[in-house]
Amino acid sequence: MEEKDLKISIAHLYPRLLNLYGDMGNIITLKKRCEWRGIEVDLEEIGMDDSIKEHDLYFIGGGQDKQQQDVAQELYKHKDFLLSERDNGSVFLGICGGYQLFGHYYRPFEGDELKGISLLDAYTVAGKKRFIGNVTIETDFLSPKTLVGFENHSGLTYLQGDTKPLGKSLVGNGNNGQDGFEGARYKNVFGTYLHGSLLPKNPQFADYLIELALEKHYGEKVMLKKLDDTFEEKTHSSLVGKAY
Ligand code: GLN
Repeated sequence: MEEKDLKISIAHLYPRLLNLYGDMGNIITLKKRCEWRGIEVDLEEIGMDDSIKEHDLYFIGGGQDKQQQDVAQELYKHKDFLLSERDNGSVFLGICGGYQLFGHYYRPFEGDELKGISLLDAYTVAGKKRFIGNVTIETDFLSPKTLVGFENHSGLTYLQGDTKPLGKSLVGNGNNGQDGFEGARYKNVFGTYLHGSLLPKNPQFADYLIELALEKHYGEKVMLKKLDDTFEEKTHSSLVGKAY
């Protein structure tokens, strides 16, 4: 298939509430990297009380505890549908607070436990310390292997079962400051604490997600043509291993 004849649908979940630290940049990157190749993108913003229809890729950003509480209640209404979308191969990317809601629950220090939608076999509990700073992790499925960004969370996330880490922490605190790993992956569901926003500085991950979404849409692998990522790759390399 020629790239110019392709299309994918993307749902941006609750951007008016969960869009901390420029997480919107991930949607802009996915859309632009498709459009630069002539791939049509049907982008739908999902707000509170909206229904959710099938999409090839779902994105949710991070947010403060209050907004996370509001979204958690709303997102939970769509749990069964989104679990079926996961099992049908749809791609999910959740950042920080959004990532935490992909697990079974987020237990803050105060107030009620927030129910997650269990796309990932994981759970999060509030920690005493806020992890803030630059992050570099090393994946085993991307080239280059590294992902760079920054973190700002107090939640400690623990993975279970078949849910595996996104990568090994090289710089930063990872999921919980203890096990040396960051983020999570199960099937085509990806979660990470990397704000930044993540995808502009990690174009290889953006293309990896687009290829998965195209495979979901068309039922066969689609290898994207390489773009001129000279600027993005220079930015990425300048940040690998950078703590301050
Ligand atoms: N409120 C959550 C925490 O502090 C998520 C924060 C965020 O999305 N940056 O862990």
